[in-house]
Amino acid sequence: MSTTESADLTAFRSEVRAFIRDYLPDDIRETVRSGRLGTAAETARWQKILFEKGWVAPSWPVELGGVDWTPMQRNIFEEESAMADCPPLDPMGLSMIGPLIIARGSQEQKDFYLPRILRSEEKWCQGYSEPGSGSDLASLQTRAVPDGDDYVVNGTKIWTSGAHAADRIFCLVRTDPDVKAQEGISLLLIDLKTPGITIRPIIGLNEMHFFNQIFFDDVRVPMANRVGEENMGWTYAKEVLGSERLQLSRTGENKRLLRLLKTIAAQEDHGGGKLAEQDWFRRKLRRAEVRLKALDYTSRLNC
Ligand SMILES: Cc1cc2nc3c(=O)[nH]c(=O)nc-3n(C[C@H](O)[C@H](O)[C@H](O)COP(=O)(O)OP(=O)(O)OC[C@H]3O[C@@H](n4cnc5c(N)ncnc54)[C@H](O)[C@@H]3O)c2cc1C
Repeated sequence: MSTTESADLTAFRSEVRAFIRDYLPDDIRETVRSGRLGTAAETARWQKILFEKGWVAPSWPVELGGVDWTPMQRNIFEEESAMADCPPLDPMGLSMIGPLIIARGSQEQKDFYLPRILRSEEKWCQGYSEPGSGSDLASLQTRAVPDGDDYVVNGTKIWTSGAHAADRIFCLVRTDPDVKAQEGISLLLIDLKTPGITIRPIIGLNEMHFFNQIFFDDVRVPMANRVGEENMGWTYAKEVLGSERLQLSRTGENKRLLRLLKTIAAQEDHGGGKLAEQDWFRRKLRRAEVRLKALDYTSRLNC
């Protein structure tokens, strides 16, 4: 793989850089620069600006609101966004359930959900893990039983990031308990305001409210809210996890943090000199740079 950038890509990089310089609100830039992630409202505000520009969903098909960029352009956009202190985009809608609805959803689901995701009107969360079903996710017990045109859902989900600020959850449920575990799971799109849903906060050791446990007590979910075929949820969930893994590599954000670390190390006194001059520190920094470069190339090859 070539490591030099073509003239076209350099021009594209300048275009992205100029747009961010002119349109990223100063208060949001300061929030991210000071080391915070940005509130949900700040992220939504920046996403709306990107939506107006047509850049909010680079990986979506153009006809559904995406951008006609190559993987390298997407990588450059992500890198420039992070280096210029843009808040990370909310991955749940744009990178996880949005692409799954595009690939597997009904026309009605596409028409209803995709514009709301693009315009940052609704936030999503992910309902996979359960108490006792984390690494062994296929053992999940939350049950969805058909009743007329609905499923009746009972059970609980845990570690649900951001559920307290979300409007909807994409949720793995057991629709057939009598087959191999992976073959009896379906994926439902559930409105979190539906009667019978209780969201209980889990406060972390850092005293932050990020995780939640969700209880479903006879929750009626229209069958029309099932993505794709019944009992095919395990396959669809793996498709979502595929894009989640790339999302989590966060190479742009990590490059920004490495740059911040170098700035701090050049200023901090340590061992009779600056931290950046210490052999042990330089060795550790070099190791981190090599690992990040490897991650960067890996995610470019996979996007
Ligand atoms: C930051 C963060 C955000 C998350 N957000 C969400 C979310 O939004 N929605 C959601 O559904 N889930 C979320 N999760 C949950 C995450 O997917 C689970 O933590 C994960 O599935 C692991 O489950 P567990 O915590 O129950 O650990 P366990 O499955 O209990 O595992 C505990 C430890 O045992 C090890 N282990 C487990 N089984 C075996 C085995 N057979 N052999 C050897 N070792 C084993 C594991 O590697 C691990 O080290 C989030 C987790 C984190 C950290």
